[in-house]
Amino acid sequence: MKTFKLHIKDTFTSQLPADPIEGSKRRQVEKACFSYVNPKQIKKPELLHVSKNMLENLGISETESQSEEFLNVFSGNQVLPNTKPFAMCYGGHQFGNWAGQLGDGRAINLTEIDYNNQHWALQLKGAGETPYSRTADGLAVLRSSIREYLCSEAMFHLGVPTTRALSLSLTGDQVMRDVMYNGNPEYEPGAVVSRVAPSFLRFGSFEIFAAREDSKTLKQLTDYTITQFYPELGAPSKETYLAFFREISERTLKMIIDWQRVGFVHGVMNTDNMSILGLTIDYGPYGWLEGFDFGWTPNTTDREHKRYRYGNQPNIGLWNLYQLANALYPLIEDVDALQAILDDYKSDFEKQSLEMMRSKIGLFQADENDLKLIQDLEDVLQMTETDMTIFFRNLSKIEKENVSNGLEIIQDAFYNPKAMTKDLEDLWKHWFQKYGVRLQNESISDAERAMRMNGVNPKYVLRNYMAQLAIDAAEKGDYALIDELFNLLKNPYSEQEDSQKWFAKRPEWARNKVGCSMLSCSS
Ligand code: AMP
Ligand code: MG
Repeated sequence: MKTFKLHIKDTFTSQLPADPIEGSKRRQVEKACFSYVNPKQIKKPELLHVSKNMLENLGISETESQSEEFLNVFSGNQVLPNTKPFAMCYGGHQFGNWAGQLGDGRAINLTEIDYNNQHWALQLKGAGETPYSRTADGLAVLRSSIREYLCSEAMFHLGVPTTRALSLSLTGDQVMRDVMYNGNPEYEPGAVVSRVAPSFLRFGSFEIFAAREDSKTLKQLTDYTITQFYPELGAPSKETYLAFFREISERTLKMIIDWQRVGFVHGVMNTDNMSILGLTIDYGPYGWLEGFDFGWTPNTTDREHKRYRYGNQPNIGLWNLYQLANALYPLIEDVDALQAILDDYKSDFEKQSLEMMRSKIGLFQADENDLKLIQDLEDVLQMTETDMTIFFRNLSKIEKENVSNGLEIIQDAFYNPKAMTKDLEDLWKHWFQKYGVRLQNESISDAERAMRMNGVNPKYVLRNYMAQLAIDAAEKGDYALIDELFNLLKNPYSEQEDSQKWFAKRPEWARNKVGCSMLSCSS
């Protein structure tokens, strides 16, 4: 049997306090950052896909990835020598309310490694019960595992900060789930995603110690995080803690601006799903905008209040940062300084959001009327049910001297062109006319503008129905589409001649289908 060696460098378990009890018995874990627990033994692991790029990052060869040992380690059946798997303790605000201890209920960290001057934590999602599993089973099903696997790698290639995925495996076990929470549970294939990030620490990892008034562990964890992941901020001190908070605030904003740019809606922006490194984390009932709509949320659990709708993501980022500020307060004790950082988030958001939208419509020289031009566009986009991805991509074809064919150029983006009223058509024509005038002030050529626009407006995203097609096929034993979409989404900004079929509006059958437009947290 071929074995592979990883460059193990455990920092979390060697520097932070452990829960003295081992095993998966459910419990409140106090004064500790994690609990040792082993992944569940599974029946018949089967490797469905591996990310070659992540293999390289971790120093694992392709031959090694085909070994029995790789499969066993990354599906949970075998613990690597010299490692001791563990689940992390954290709390969180869920849908605006403090939820107490949450923790890694269905994730188990294997180890950390250092390779090529990069540090990575390896984690299995769906590897069985932990002390934090509460009433659930610690498992994950194939459908949600495919969604996390494909989307996290797609986000990376879109240039959005994210956790990564290394492999996707079937466990061979069946898992019971009630997808729509309507009393119709069914067995589904169980699966495990091995995922990778420098750290999986969340806002909630800090909140739990503040809520328990355990400043000692809070300080230990904060000092560890700064030393390990933000060493440039300097030795821990009040100033450093503030700089730490500022850096997290800035990274969180950058991540959310990227989400807005590509039309990604996370779906569950609870504080336990907010990475301390500003990475997109925990791919659950997320979705991609098809029709551009600030009010859209993919998450059925959020259907009533739409707290996590597309247009509200920047506000929720700020709300979550308030919770983190409260959690770090005992170490900083300076309300005004924390408030100043939160205020900067707001003003930076206005600036960066405008810059991002300007780049999406190909405006690269400042003009004070751009905000109005963009707001008018957002209004008319929402009035017409317009596919976000197709609209912005096709807009790059417009010629400065000939904007009168604007509507024709973006025609393919309309979901229901027949429903276009005269009033709406006039609004569109009026917008294109103003846009044409504005383009006159841009000095770059049409070709240069198109090139730049195509670098921020993806041609291919993981549309909700695309993931669902891959899931439907996989549930029948056909994994080819997982590979096809995985490869397509490695180059989301490039024209891919053979893949034009994925540059298309969502088909009508997918409009109201479970998994395509509606997702639940049941994964
Ligand atoms: P999420 O909203 O998916 O990020 O999950 C919120 C909390 O529920 C986290 O503490 C998860 O670990 C836990 N959780 C979600 N699904 C399961 C499951 N199947 N088994 C155990 N814990 C779970
Ligand atoms: Mg989570």
